[in-house]
Amino acid sequence: MFNLILFGPPGSGKGTQSEKLIDKYGLLHLSTGDLLRKEIANQTKLGLEAKSFMDKGQLVPDAVVIGMINSALEANPAAKGFLFDGFPRTVAQAEALDNLLASKNSGISIVLALEVDQEELVKRIQIRGQSSGRSDDSDPNVIRARLVEYENKTAPVAGHYAGVGKVVYVKGVGTIDEIFQSLCRQIDSRK
Ligand code: AMP
Repeated sequence: MFNLILFGPPGSGKGTQSEKLIDKYGLLHLSTGDLLRKEIANQTKLGLEAKSFMDKGQLVPDAVVIGMINSALEANPAAKGFLFDGFPRTVAQAEALDNLLASKNSGISIVLALEVDQEELVKRIQIRGQSSGRSDDSDPNVIRARLVEYENKTAPVAGHYAGVGKVVYVKGVGTIDEIFQSLCRQIDSRK
């Protein structure tokens, strides 16, 4: 199995690049943000609980997202690999993911970390907000809160995987295709 984490702050291009990477490498895309928005659209209990955190730009509790990822892994036993997008976002989530994959005799192959400076992130999120309809992409206070959550809780996840030599930093600025080619080069040199 080839399991990839596409890592980076909100607005760094994870969603855009994920779509291209899953096409090229035949991986199954697991985006916790997308899964949570689906739960909200279906007005499930989980969705209603998650929405109160998402609307404020806060992370949803670990147990909720870990449960969703566990179900998704169980539902796709034949996948040749997964692309995790927006997960793990805390060290506790990373540890849980490592354990879930280990129980399937697998693990994380590589963490590709997109680097984009803060000013560019805010600009991109606001532009996305004009067409995505996502309220958390439109309110400057919520955008700021998401970036603070990232610095405090998510950035340490890179350290978790750097400790085992899995993290590769990739410049997340340039054209979509330039960034995609940089990501592919890193994957191809490790496959
Ligand atoms: P995203 O689409 O990845 O930007 O996620 C949108 C929002 O969903 C985030 O601001 C969080 O509130 C929530 N969320 C998505 N993934 C996670 C996760 N792995 N852990 C906690 N909250 C998450």
